[in-house]
Amino acid sequence: VRKKIIAGNWKMNKTVSEAKAFVHVLLKELEEYSAADVVICPPFTALQAICDLLSQSSSHVRLGAQNLFPASHGPYTGEISPWMLREFFCHYVIVGHSERRIHLGETDLFINKKVKAALSASLHPILCIGENLEERQQGLWKEKISQQLQIGLKEVEEKQLADCVIAYEPIWAIGTGKNATPEQAQEVHLFIREEISRLFSLQSAQKLRIQYGGSVSPENAQELLLCPDIDGLLIGGASLDVRTFCSIILNS
Ligand code: 13P
Repeated sequence: VRKKIIAGNWKMNKTVSEAKAFVHVLLKELEEYSAADVVICPPFTALQAICDLLSQSSSHVRLGAQNLFPASHGPYTGEISPWMLREFFCHYVIVGHSERRIHLGETDLFINKKVKAALSASLHPILCIGENLEERQQGLWKEKISQQLQIGLKEVEEKQLADCVIAYEPIWAIGTGKNATPEQAQEVHLFIREEISRLFSLQSAQKLRIQYGGSVSPENAQELLLCPDIDGLLIGGASLDVRTFCSIILNS
């Protein structure tokens, strides 16, 4: 069985003091909780403060970063290396989010370098993939997702795949209030698993955790998580309010 993984992607939100206030409540609410893996992905500026709070508690909440640069150090102004994330005990790192693909021009090949850089620093990459509205309407989502997986996971060894998480985030569902229906999401998740089976093996595909992201809310989280191939959630807007985020976790 695949343990569910519920992650909050704060994107470019929250000051350090807002982040601390959130985590105080989160740790209290989830004190006894261990049914799913819970991850929060704050901006870089809040990693240190949250790392300190988590290290003082016995909680299972894990820290994730929203990005990294695929080099250990060097002349890359404004970038953060995998080893810098390790200093704050990050376990996860989001890679290939559609907002970075769109606003910062990240390509599948560059994202592949990030996946490999994360793995080589023992970070678990959360590789985001997903089609846009036009591709969905034209029936091209399979091609898009197949390409994102094939290039994004190029040269990843089968044993490393166990450390990866895939997040299916249809671009048309992100921040729109229009989530993919459980049927739509399940169809794509199953397709992703079949592609992984083709690229690696059936056994690896069955172990891989595939999250859904895009307008997840307390209203739709449960039914999405009931789908057989949906192994977790990557939550944007609804992860910013600690009560809302906790209600999704505790009710799922
Ligand atoms: P929303 O939940 O705000 O739609 O964002 C989803 C997302 O992009 C998470 O990475």
